[in-house]
Amino acid sequence: MFFKTQNSNNWIKCEKCKTIIFKQDLEENLYVCTKCNYHFVINAHYRIKITFDSFYELFKEIYPKDFLNFDDYSKKLKEDQEKTNLTDAIITGYGCLKGDINKYKVSVGIMDFNFRGGSMGSVVGEKIALISEYALKNDTPLIIFSSSGGARMQEGIISLMQMAKTISAIKLLNKNRIPFINIITHPTTGGVAASFVGIADIILSEIGALIGFAGQRVIEQTIKQKLPPDFQTAEFSLKYGLIDNIVHRHNIPNILSKFINSFYFYKK
Ligand SMILES: [Zn+2]
Repeated sequence: MFFKTQNSNNWIKCEKCKTIIFKQDLEENLYVCTKCNYHFVINAHYRIKITFDSFYELFKEIYPKDFLNFDDYSKKLKEDQEKTNLTDAIITGYGCLKGDINKYKVSVGIMDFNFRGGSMGSVVGEKIALISEYALKNDTPLIIFSSSGGARMQEGIISLMQMAKTISAIKLLNKNRIPFINIITHPTTGGVAASFVGIADIILSEIGALIGFAGQRVIEQTIKQKLPPDFQTAEFSLKYGLIDNIVHRHNIPNILSKFINSFYFYKK
């Protein structure tokens, strides 16, 4: 399943405008509401299918560990692995973007919110570090689709350490002039929003994505002020310069191809 639905198999209710949409129409529209452009949460496998012409997975053999013997963490990991067909909340690899006539190679990381809320623990951190090293060694741009509820609390301090680890890995790309493009998808919050996402060379966001560190209610309680209703949306973030642009899901491969092609053009 790409998202939750309260309706029968053939009809899906848009979470934003509440329109009932025929499932086939929604599929043909890449899970974007045909009425209001609401972007449904999609899984990593589907993201690969709609973004890349070819994709080869790397670092699949890395599995998460229950370092702290945290309650039923092992059980939940197993459940999510079965549910999502993933080992943890990210797939890494390399491939060519859909429609890129030059078939330039890009290194890729795609997070999946369906696996433990896309939380970043030791495996997500390690795989981002490894795919950054791969991008560096192979001189290919790095593209990450972020989607996360924040740090993986069941891994305690180890999950927080991934913030520094991913930033260090991306910094090496900066130093060696390898571009890193991050596409924010709904939702990208907590330790992920506050680490590698924020230091990307180009930060794009899907329409309507939630972007933030702490939740709106927590901030309101702390600063004792009411926040605007569109606070922490992609549109709000663009207005205040936190991101570079907002993209429609249909246009993502095309926009990324343009960036990647200009990178290779100026490298020659
Ligand atoms: Zn809608």
